[in-house]
Amino acid sequence: MSDGTAKAGDTDARPRISAQELLSQLMEHHNAGVPGRTVLLVVALNRSDRLLALAQEPHTLQVLTEVARRVEALLRPGDRYSFVSHDETWVLLCDLPNVSLAELAGSTLRESLMRPILSGRDDQEPTHVTLRPVIGGAWSPGGALAEAHLLVREASDACLRAQRSDDNVLITALDSDMAHVHRGALEREVRSALHGNELDVYFQPQIQLATSKCVAVEALVRWIRPDRPAIPAAQIASVCEERGMMGQLTQYVLNSSLRQISLLRKQGIDVAVSINLSAVTLLDAAFPALVAQALATWGVSPDRLMLELTESAIVQNEAQAIGFMKQLRRQGCMLAIDDFGTGYSSFSYLKQFPLTELKIDQSFVRNITEESADHRIVRALVDLAHTFGMQALAEGVETEATLERLIELGCDRAQGFHYAPALEAHAFVDWFRQREAAATPTPARAEPAFR
Ligand code: C2E
Ligand code: CA
Ligand code: CA
Repeated sequence: MSDGTAKAGDTDARPRISAQELLSQLMEHHNAGVPGRTVLLVVALNRSDRLLALAQEPHTLQVLTEVARRVEALLRPGDRYSFVSHDETWVLLCDLPNVSLAELAGSTLRESLMRPILSGRDDQEPTHVTLRPVIGGAWSPGGALAEAHLLVREASDACLRAQRSDDNVLITALDSDMAHVHRGALEREVRSALHGNELDVYFQPQIQLATSKCVAVEALVRWIRPDRPAIPAAQIASVCEERGMMGQLTQYVLNSSLRQISLLRKQGIDVAVSINLSAVTLLDAAFPALVAQALATWGVSPDRLMLELTESAIVQNEAQAIGFMKQLRRQGCMLAIDDFGTGYSSFSYLKQFPLTELKIDQSFVRNITEESADHRIVRALVDLAHTFGMQALAEGVETEATLERLIELGCDRAQGFHYAPALEAHAFVDWFRQREAAATPTPARAEPAFR
């Protein structure tokens, strides 16, 4: 969750600060126009009668010291927390790309805090205290509404609602600066675009570093609306996820992509295609059969299709994920784990799941040449991928220097603006041909036999 705020101008990188400082930090983010993607978690520890009792006793300090240790273990540079009272803690996490990750962060924190804490006075038998915290949070996607008071109010509200209901973790997503496009209107527009086949699928090249060849493309949805602002792909996906249209979007992208792949092969361009799945797709038991059908319709071999799932999608539905992924692997499809490194999850699922590729998130790749920590992380992730028999792909490669580092680290594949952004199918064909032509040594001009 590092967003640079801790590095830039922070003379004091203490993760624990006063509530006042935490509020000022939020306001500073807002005034400086720092991108949002911030979550404020309000952690209410007061569900535990034990802690309330302990509050009267000296060893409350032991409990809170342990709470502090566990909170700190989950923080990244730039994240902060504050003990607002002995039964309420605020945790500010920066640069969380989506609300699912904020929920995952909340659940992981809650699980960690629920592990028994050893406590007791010197003259007493030590006892275990088990906290049962409830967490409410507010996540803000953009700068515009990330005002301190709004985040605090929404997070506190969510915490109250969580306490009144059976939800132990409840995160509210604040509307972003895209709020001018009203969510309901956006839903209707996306629905009609899906019905009217108005969405496009663009392809971003993926390069095999050992050969420098483009071996695959990632399919990314685009909605080009003449004279109207473009809607970012992530927003189309999140509206579809929220409003029950994800099945349709995935079907559309899957079929368009496979159709294009089959057309490309007829033009002598043999590349695989990678498509993004969402957490809700994992709940669709019919999906593997739909994939098999689409592959048969377009005559594409299953090993030319890679399906990308994020860590958070897998962790949200771990039980379903295993069966779902095994089925797709049995059918011969490839499986990638997307945005790797941004989640809070353990790595335990890597050995359980039949994954073929690990996509290292762009946030680590971007600063690999300047940040030695990021360089070490990418090195570790490449090694991790290889340990589990996966290919490592670096996302967000924008410069030659980054590419050189990745080659040194033994990364297998790369994708990013350094090569090309996502391209419309015919633009991809042009790009591919030009690259092929540049790589093929021009035959020496034949000398005329006679002068
Ligand atoms: P993602 O799957 O992580 O896709 C990569 C995103 O990074 C794409 O943004 C791509 O255009 C962008 N990108 C690629 N190379 C670079 C680079 O070098 N620098 C930078 N700064 N960015 C780069 P895009 O197309 O806006 O998509 C955003 C997200 O929307 C995707 O993230 C994915 O989560 C979601 N998405 C896109 N298409 C689909 C789809 O068909 N279905 C689903 N479920 N989600 C989709
Ligand atoms: Ca992806
Ligand atoms: Ca990604």
